[in-house]
Amino acid sequence: MAYDVDCVVVGAGVVGLALARERALAGREVLVAEAAKGIGTETSSRNSEVIHAGLYYPADSLKARLCVEGKAMLYAYCAERGIAHRRLGKLLVASSPAQVGVIDEIIARGNANGVTDLVRLTKAEALAMEPALNVEAAIHSPSTGIVDSHALMLALQGDAQNAGAAFAFATPMTGGRVRPAGGFELDFGGEEAMSLTCRELVIAAGNGAPGLARAIEGVPEATVPRAYLAKGNYFTLRGRPPFSRLVYPVPEPGGLGIHLTLDLGGQARFGPDVEWVESMDYPVDPRRAERFYPAIRHYWPDLPEGSLEPGYSGIRPKIAAPGEPAADFRIDGPEAHGVPGLVALYGIESPGLTASLAIARYAAQLLD
Ligand SMILES: Cc1cc2nc3c(=O)[nH]c(=O)nc-3n(C[C@H](O)[C@H](O)[C@H](O)COP(=O)(O)OP(=O)(O)OC[C@H]3O[C@@H](n4cnc5c(N)ncnc54)[C@H](O)[C@@H]3O)c2cc1C
Repeated sequence: MAYDVDCVVVGAGVVGLALARERALAGREVLVAEAAKGIGTETSSRNSEVIHAGLYYPADSLKARLCVEGKAMLYAYCAERGIAHRRLGKLLVASSPAQVGVIDEIIARGNANGVTDLVRLTKAEALAMEPALNVEAAIHSPSTGIVDSHALMLALQGDAQNAGAAFAFATPMTGGRVRPAGGFELDFGGEEAMSLTCRELVIAAGNGAPGLARAIEGVPEATVPRAYLAKGNYFTLRGRPPFSRLVYPVPEPGGLGIHLTLDLGGQARFGPDVEWVESMDYPVDPRRAERFYPAIRHYWPDLPEGSLEPGYSGIRPKIAAPGEPAADFRIDGPEAHGVPGLVALYGIESPGLTASLAIARYAAQLLD
C-alpha cells in the first residue's frame, strides 16, 4: 500500500529533531527517517556541547545570525524543559603579543554580530579569573555555556512525538524522485525496503546530506555542494583541571583551535583538532597527543606530561575544501534549487548545536 505523509525529515541529529518538532507543532504530519538505530549517534553526540556566543562568524552570515538567535532560544528552551546546562562563560586567550590584535578583531566581529556583552581583559584581569593561564590579553564571553546535548535531543524528540511525529529508525533513505505534479517519492532501505510519497522533504542528514541530495532525481546537481570531512579529535584530562571556565586559544584554519571545555561534571577535555579525512572513521589515534601538548601549553604551561588520554572524535560536515575560507551554513530552500517543498541543509558544522532551534525556525519559513 502506498504510504503518504505531509513532511519527511531525513536525519535524527539535533537539527533534524528540531525541524521535526517545528513542523509537527505547525500541524504537519511528520515522519523522521534515520539510518541509525537511535537519535543523535553522529555529529550531534560528538562535539564540545558548547553553547556558543556568536563571536567568530562573518557579519550577516547565517552562522552569525542563527548562532546569536539560537543561543537565546536554547537557553530559554533548556530552562523551560529542565535540560541540564550551565552558563560558565569563556575566556578567549591571546598567549603572545602577536595574537593580541586578533583579540580586538574578534571583539569587533562579535559586536557586529550582536554579541554585546564581551569584555576585553588585561593580563592581570585574566589572571585574576584563571591564574593558571599564560595570557597577554583575553576576551571574557559571559554568555558562552555548555549543554547536555543528549538531554536536549530527547526533549526535542519528545516534543515532536507529542505533536504527532513518527520516527523510523534503521531506515536509511537511499534515493527518490521529485514528482512532476509536486512533492516527492522517496526510497528507503533497512530491513524492509519501502517507498513513500510526501509534500515536504527536509534533508538534515549531516555528513550524508550532499550524497543524499544527489540521489534524488530532479534536484539539480549543480546546486549540491561537494562534501569534505574534517575530523576533530579530543583528548581528556586525567584529574581535575585548574579552570572554572572554558578556555579557547585564538582560532586556527578549519576550527576554533585546541580549546579546553568542561562537561557538566567538571571534567576537562581538549580539542577538537583538525584532521582532514576521506571517510567516516571515529577512532582517535593516541599519537596525535604529540600535537596537543604544545598547543595546550601555549595557554596552560603547567599541563602535566602524560595527563592526556585519547577521548572521542567528531567529523565536521565541511563544504569548503582544505585551505579555502570557511563556508557559511547552506539552508537551501526552493529559491536556491528550484524544487518546491524541499529544504536541504549542507555544511551544518559548529555552531549547529547552538543554532539548532533557530535553524529549524529559519528552514520552516523557507517551506512556508
Ligand atoms: C568536533 C565537533 C565539535 C563541535 N562542537 C560544537 C559545539 O561545541 N557547539 C555547537 O554549537 N556546535 C558544535 N559542533 C557542530 C554540531 O555538532 C553540529 O552542527 C550538529 O550536531 C549537526 O547536527 P545535524 O543534525 O545536522 O547532523 P548529525 O548529528 O550528523 O545528524 C545527521 C543524521 O542523519 C543521519 N543520516 C545520514 N544519512 C542518512 C540517510 N541517507 N538516511 C537516513 N538518515 C541519514 C545520520 O545517521 C545522523 O543521525 C561541533 C561539530 C564537531 C564535528
